[in-house]
Amino acid sequence: MPSSTAPRALYLAGQWVSTEASWPVTNPASAERVATVCVADRNHVKQAFAAAKQSFPAWRDTCARERGNVLMRLADALEREAESLSNVITLENGKPLAQSRGEVAMSVDHLRWYAEEGKRAYGRVIPPQVAGKRHFTLKVPIGPVGVIGPWNFPLMLLIRKAAPAWAAGCPVVMKPAPQTPLSALELARLAHEAQMPAGLLSVLLGPAEDVGAEMLENPHCRKISFTGSTAVGRHLIAGAAEGIKPLSLELGGHAAAVVFDDASLKQAVASLVMAKFRNAGQSCIAANRIYVQRPIMQEFVAAFVEAVRALKVGDGREPGVEVGPLIDERALQKAEAHIADAVAKGAHVVLGGHKLQRPGHFLEPTVLANVAADALCMNEETFAPVAPISVFDTEAEVVERANASNYGLAAYAFTQNLSRALRMADALEAGTVAINDGVPTTSQAPFGGMKHSGWGRELGSEGLDAFMETKHICVAMEGLVG
Ligand code: NAP
Repeated sequence: MPSSTAPRALYLAGQWVSTEASWPVTNPASAERVATVCVADRNHVKQAFAAAKQSFPAWRDTCARERGNVLMRLADALEREAESLSNVITLENGKPLAQSRGEVAMSVDHLRWYAEEGKRAYGRVIPPQVAGKRHFTLKVPIGPVGVIGPWNFPLMLLIRKAAPAWAAGCPVVMKPAPQTPLSALELARLAHEAQMPAGLLSVLLGPAEDVGAEMLENPHCRKISFTGSTAVGRHLIAGAAEGIKPLSLELGGHAAAVVFDDASLKQAVASLVMAKFRNAGQSCIAANRIYVQRPIMQEFVAAFVEAVRALKVGDGREPGVEVGPLIDERALQKAEAHIADAVAKGAHVVLGGHKLQRPGHFLEPTVLANVAADALCMNEETFAPVAPISVFDTEAEVVERANASNYGLAAYAFTQNLSRALRMADALEAGTVAINDGVPTTSQAPFGGMKHSGWGRELGSEGLDAFMETKHICVAMEGLVG
């Protein structure tokens, strides 16, 4: 566990570096300071990319099997220290310990999967148009990359970028979110202990504008992979114009969940409680707009409320807790404002609706019914344990309402009708459509958003491809046989 007194040093290309400036890290369950962390300036970021550039040729030329072995060693180290890592995540983020354990397990899986997938970065052979020529393609690593992560899955989302980057042959300079730098520094410690070559990883907490500007302007940073809000994604797109900097962007979401009258109620309720209340609703694929077909509306709301009422709220370190605090006071105020707005527009609070009178930033798990289409919570991420429910009549109507959003990250549909399920898979505008499932994300399948939810895909073979360039090789032969 991190010390609560001495500031944690930064990790710069194999060295632990202390700085004069430091930022506090607080436990969202108590609002108490639990650690301080050194703060990088722009020069540290420059140094990290200089080291990354130096380490790049040797790593690029290391064969994929050996690169995979390094990732496997790191995965083993994470697994060995899973319990202490989970405690660190819960301390800085607030999520229940069981969910932190799940985050560590998923991070290990990402590392192991890309350790193998790196071996399958195949090119192809292309038939020529002119006799005597040969065309083929090679997949080559793009070079050192900047990785920027949010606080909601502080370890997993950084590894979701770093694992394929390393597997592809790219060094990584990482900026964690200021609320949750401790798990990223633990990752650096474990990478160091697993003898990851110096220069392949730097973990630099620092002012976002400065770190971001250096990543955008530094010619040695060949790509930025970002997960966070659509607003910051837009800012990076504007900043990337000058240097033509390639970007992968995993941005905000506002997932619609459609429950048809032929759905298994049990399955729909269990899946949506998970999809909405996991991480206290602070998930990009949270089921934020639940549309229920009229004939089962009352029955669904009753069963859903019963399941939500049973969720145990509290400090994530207490046994059995399923819903932890929100990340900070601002997040709590935003959720309260969304609830008040929905009520002003005619919604009925069926459960919860208030903050808890205890230290930390806790909101009661909340269910709202009869929520108007123009309510804020039906149009923007609430990022809180607030489930708005609205009724619908026809399939065509609900598809139109589900797609009437700038976001397109994930969508959920619940039905026992195969044809309808396949129609939903076609019609819903989202990078992931989950049918009768509340946890669709997995290492081997692509993940990413349409519309304002982002550019590109992570995970799966697409996630590896994101860190590679396709190079065309053309060979003209001298003379032809016969
Ligand atoms: P955020 O405010 O956009 O911050 C994300 C990261 O970007 C933080 O490390 C932040 O640092 C940094 N950042 C801010 N301004 C920057 C700049 N000008 N240049 C470079 N970096 C900058 O998002 P958040 O509140 O942490 O996370 C929640 C959002 O992430 C939600 O919208 C959620 O849907 C989205 N998200 C998306 C996915 C996905 O896979 N699509 C997954 C998880 C979360 P500072 O905090 O220091 O500004």
